[in-house]
Amino acid sequence: MKTKRALVLVSGDEQSLAAGARAVYAALRVEVQRRGLADEVAVALIGDVGRHDVLPVVLVYPEAVVYGPVTAAAVPRLVEEHLYKGRVAPELLAPLKELSGRIAWFAARQGALPAEQRLLLERAGRIDPDEIDDYLMADGYTTLGRALTEGTPAAVLAELEQAGLRGRGGAGFPTARKLQHVAQARGLVKYVVCNADESEPGTFKDRLLMEADPHALLEAMALCAFAVGAREGYIYVRGEYRLAQRRLRRAIEQARHLGLLGRGLFGTGFDFDVHVHAGAGAYICGEETALLESLEGKRGEPRLRPPYPVTHGLWGRPTAVINVETLANVVPIVRNGAQWYRGFGTSRSPGTKLYTVLGNVNVTGLIEVPMGITLREVVAIYAQGMQPGSNFKLAQTGGSSGSVIPAGLQDVPMDYDSLAQAGVALGSGALLICDQHTCVVDLAAVLLNFFRRESCGKCTPCRVGTERAYQCLRRIASGAGRPADILELDEVAASMAHLSFCGLGQTAATPLRDVLRHFRPEVQAHIDDHRCPAGVCVGEAAPVAIRR
Ligand code: SF4
Repeated sequence: MKTKRALVLVSGDEQSLAAGARAVYAALRVEVQRRGLADEVAVALIGDVGRHDVLPVVLVYPEAVVYGPVTAAAVPRLVEEHLYKGRVAPELLAPLKELSGRIAWFAARQGALPAEQRLLLERAGRIDPDEIDDYLMADGYTTLGRALTEGTPAAVLAELEQAGLRGRGGAGFPTARKLQHVAQARGLVKYVVCNADESEPGTFKDRLLMEADPHALLEAMALCAFAVGAREGYIYVRGEYRLAQRRLRRAIEQARHLGLLGRGLFGTGFDFDVHVHAGAGAYICGEETALLESLEGKRGEPRLRPPYPVTHGLWGRPTAVINVETLANVVPIVRNGAQWYRGFGTSRSPGTKLYTVLGNVNVTGLIEVPMGITLREVVAIYAQGMQPGSNFKLAQTGGSSGSVIPAGLQDVPMDYDSLAQAGVALGSGALLICDQHTCVVDLAAVLLNFFRRESCGKCTPCRVGTERAYQCLRRIASGAGRPADILELDEVAASMAHLSFCGLGQTAATPLRDVLRHFRPEVQAHIDDHRCPAGVCVGEAAPVAIRR
């Protein structure tokens, strides 16, 4: 970070920009200049700060004061009071009770909220993502430098293995084992591919990581490349994530300029460079083999496995495909050691997890919490409880393809093994919390509508199954359901789960299966009594939509 008296950060995600963040940023720069403070105060536009209802947010360091929502018109007052006279402008403060996500960390410092354990978001919101100097001043690239000059690929792999890092993309596969397969695979040309095609509805944690701390991703990719013997890496970024793409491209240019990417890194014989590839909006391209097909310029459809990407990946070469959040764990583990990392989370699921909390709760946004926290804790502490008049009915974990869990499972620790034992998939990290006004038939229909549109059409169980399930749910929601419809849904869900070619069709059945497992009487009531117990489905002409 630059040696200035104060650092002023403006939230610069897409929604903040739409709410006037750029004007606030420009006004701050003008006002700081006009007051003669330009040598003492740094102003930067950063990524998302985890909240969407007090945007744009202005964070002022070193006091960590949070203002929001801030308008350009309010900037002269903010600069005069806080930066010129040295006192807080109370009327511009963001209301503390509404803070969550990364901003909540600041509130926690003031004793208002519990602290988050931030390993992955350590620098998010505290550095300017467009300035490599900020990352360097925060110890950036030192872990890579040490690994290249003092360590070995085997040492990096051993540290990751002892740390017990598991993939955060949903499957929870041990990351070290994946890297070991690539390291041991035959061939001189190998790749590291970062899966940043975050398309699961309700999930936006990877976007925030890329927008807030792009160099951390590059450093992690370089460490993985060193460990497996790759010289080239690709970041496959969701097409809509334009700000993340821009920041990553800028970060790559800056790293190349300083010799932190390219040939002979840190004076060693290790070469590594990274390219950014923007996706075109297909959900299926988040599946690793479809992603590789797309990266090769082909239609994004899954490949038959085996062979797996670790031996036959990009252009048929050994490839480690790793998700953004998983990569975000790599530098902290290699820097601090496996033992330190195992101090967080549970013994079989160490570390922290990012969740995007959504739905009928008081505060929504991004949080970083230890693995093994319960859903009840997330709702009560980080989401500040259910909204007034709302009672917890269900939660969907992991985005559209995640499990639907009833109130009775709120106390299951959210780690891979405990959830698996309870028949729940942790998924991508979105937590949609729904109250008593949510109808499970309506919810399932919305989800199946998404999947029937996103199915690539390659195999019948998914292509036909999602359509059949959707039509069946529409019929039930309209009050025209037949007694045989529930059996048909059971049958379709089972064949999609067991016979679909790839994870999309297999997991599209998950919410349907869970609705039938946990909320069957509610579905049955639509058919037997021609009524919707939640009062959402109101007849044949009614559109199928979740009430918000
Ligand atoms: Fe395509 Fe669906 Fe089959 Fe996957 S399961 S190959 S997305 S049709």
